[in-house]
Amino acid sequence: MFIQSDFHIHASFYRAKNPGDTPGPRAIDQLRSARAAGSKFVGIVEHCNASPRHPFHCLEALSAEYYADDFDREDVFLGVEADLAEDGSDACGAAGRKKLGLHYVIGSVHLSPPIIPEVNDYINSEYKRITNALKYNRNVDIIGHPFGEGIRWERSGAVAKWQWSMIPDEYLSEVIRLAGESGKALEMNRCDLNDPVYVDFWNRIRDNGVFFSVGSDAHSVGGTFEVVSRTAYLEAHGFSESKHWKVSIK
Ligand SMILES: [Zn+2]
Ligand SMILES: [Zn+2]
Repeated sequence: MFIQSDFHIHASFYRAKNPGDTPGPRAIDQLRSARAAGSKFVGIVEHCNASPRHPFHCLEALSAEYYADDFDREDVFLGVEADLAEDGSDACGAAGRKKLGLHYVIGSVHLSPPIIPEVNDYINSEYKRITNALKYNRNVDIIGHPFGEGIRWERSGAVAKWQWSMIPDEYLSEVIRLAGESGKALEMNRCDLNDPVYVDFWNRIRDNGVFFSVGSDAHSVGGTFEVVSRTAYLEAHGFSESKHWKVSIK
């Protein structure tokens, strides 16, 4: 039996806002929503990157909510979703992790057509960021939504349809191989389950015994229910609970 977990839930209350923006959920709101969705292990995060919307003091405020005396931390963990640079380093770093009291770091790539217009340049850049993080970055525990930004090139009209077959097969093989070697997890998030190459990528994650994590990537209350069908998919397709990533408290 799979234990439903969700280590990618945003407490988006903790980001810089423009006047009139909705405040977004605090950690406590997202914890309640994750429990309502049936998740046993819960991870609350916010973005850590160079954007003016995500100054470091916002993460400190989130950490303060998590570590407050009245916050129920049983099976609830604190992480960040940190942007990966091309050399594989992450925007949080070991010092940021320590300062915030984090249990884990998700390393993700957030690129978009205005930053990198050509889809192949995006694929090459994401590949470099992920593989260098897997090889060299001891601070990162989970690779968030690998190649999950590709859909943006379809939405912008840069390509007629985003397809996983655009990613060279040797890239996907190398990501799986390095994830297995490093013990880091690959995250199921933003599923392309109607794309046969994506499905094959996940079958290879399973067959190679690579750690995987499931994330809702909820930014608002209610988004936490996204993990239910993803978890059910993995369980129905023979994934092993022993490779289902969990925080290891040292
Ligand atoms: Zn992300
Ligand atoms: Zn996210």
